[in-house]
Amino acid sequence: DRVKLRRALISVSDKTGLIDFAKGLGELGVELVSTGGTAKALAEAGLSVRDVSDLTGFPEIMDGRVKTLHPGVHGGLLAIRDDAAHAAAMRQHAIAAIDLLVVNLYPFEATRASGASPETIVENIDIGGPAMIRAGAKNHGYVTVVVDPADYAAVLAGLRATGGETSLDERRQLAARAFARTAAYDAAVSGWFAESLGETAPRRVAIAGELAEELRYGENPHQSAGFYRTGEGRPGVATARQVQGKALSYNNINDTDAAFELVAEFDPARTAAVAIIKHANPCGVAEAGDLAGAYHAALACDPVSAFGGIVALNRRLDAAAAGEIVKVFTEVIIAPEADDEAIAIVAKKKNLRLLLTGGLPDPRAAGRTFRSVAGGFLMQSRDAGVVEDLDLKVVTKRAPNEAELADMRFAFRVAKHVKSNTIVYAKGGATVGIGAGQMSRVDSARIAARKAEDAAQAAGADRSATIGSVVASDAFFPFADGLLSAVEAGATAVIQPGGSMRDDEVIAAADAHGIAMVLTGMRHFRH
Ligand code: 5GP
Repeated sequence: DRVKLRRALISVSDKTGLIDFAKGLGELGVELVSTGGTAKALAEAGLSVRDVSDLTGFPEIMDGRVKTLHPGVHGGLLAIRDDAAHAAAMRQHAIAAIDLLVVNLYPFEATRASGASPETIVENIDIGGPAMIRAGAKNHGYVTVVVDPADYAAVLAGLRATGGETSLDERRQLAARAFARTAAYDAAVSGWFAESLGETAPRRVAIAGELAEELRYGENPHQSAGFYRTGEGRPGVATARQVQGKALSYNNINDTDAAFELVAEFDPARTAAVAIIKHANPCGVAEAGDLAGAYHAALACDPVSAFGGIVALNRRLDAAAAGEIVKVFTEVIIAPEADDEAIAIVAKKKNLRLLLTGGLPDPRAAGRTFRSVAGGFLMQSRDAGVVEDLDLKVVTKRAPNEAELADMRFAFRVAKHVKSNTIVYAKGGATVGIGAGQMSRVDSARIAARKAEDAAQAAGADRSATIGSVVASDAFFPFADGLLSAVEAGATAVIQPGGSMRDDEVIAAADAHGIAMVLTGMRHFRH
């Protein structure tokens, strides 16, 4: 099952690592054949290379749209070497066998991401490259296909160790990568068409990802897992640079994503925001004049749960905030950037992971989210709703004052990122009680109030922080009971979507207690 490589066809857009790889191949006696730009790069590096038109007897035409789409290339890739009829066809048509195919494709994804014109994007749909990759990978019994510069070093090392041979196992593994690459490529192309057509639910959807990291295990140790990048380019955990700390776990990644998406709701030019996340739910969120102040306030909401949490910041991590965060056992810190001094402070905690994303994702950006169900998956557009953009309607006799209104916006913003049913109490730009993921809204309200009381007691305060707070609900109150439970806890103002059949009843209950209530008209379920 070993194949000695005699001829390589190299046709690459991304020329990273090309010269070293090709040099190594040349030293092993492999003949190099290339398309225009690649051949030029190799010749300029002093390597001896034949032009692909030698194999085709045909020039590259139509601005490179047709350069390798020819039986001289595809016959050389697809021929079954030990089939007599195939061998005869090769002799008859003077087709040269290609044993190694090195191709990476026109940068469609990058061109699309750069905001280029539709014409330019279309021109970057590679046709000949995927055709060759698929041909070579189909014929992996004889052909070795390399589609990723990251594989050059390992392939070359294997060739050096064997005097220029590959094994069937190696070729099968590379074939699997090759087909994954063309599948991902076409997924990106079809996704672009569907998006430009404004299709919200296309007939067929291809989702593609590239392994960013194989994980030690999944949500639980008996589950296997990997972390994949879609190439979407949204700043976040998938694109972040890990400055230090242990490898991220499956749950870390999920929680870190929740944390960073939450702080991204806060404009860093307006305010410093910090979120502490456990099990994908915030256990404290606050905004303040600086990050240290925001962290302090976020921590006060539920210091017990914050232990082992994930901390996300919407601004450049500074030394003051880093100094506070490292006092509490924390799994991950994620921020757009960090000061050197802050990095040095975090470095004292060897295991603590520090992730820097280079920017904040746009909370209003379009995008799709997926969830698997048995036998299928659900796709929806991102929840890009932002409270500032909503038309808030005061429905009670008493209108909220400025401070209440600010806290209401804050609380509703946080509620969007808490698992439903959600009740969030907030005061002075900080959460004081969060009730998450209950089957009944009343239970979420009670839990949020009780957690606030616990925190107050632990801090030695003589009354719960929910007194004089505002409360946000991610969806309408179906009955007045949820609202009354919030009133009982001490909330003075309520923000909620409205839209219940019993809105009148709920409004009347609010009026009876002098509560100010605004309706947002937008729900933020999150399951
Ligand atoms: P080069 O820089 O060598 O001129 O071009 C390399 C690129 O051309 C590679 O990305 C390869 O996938 C692509 N390519 C090779 N053959 C063809 C073809 O026949 N048609 C098109 N559209 N692209 C090709």
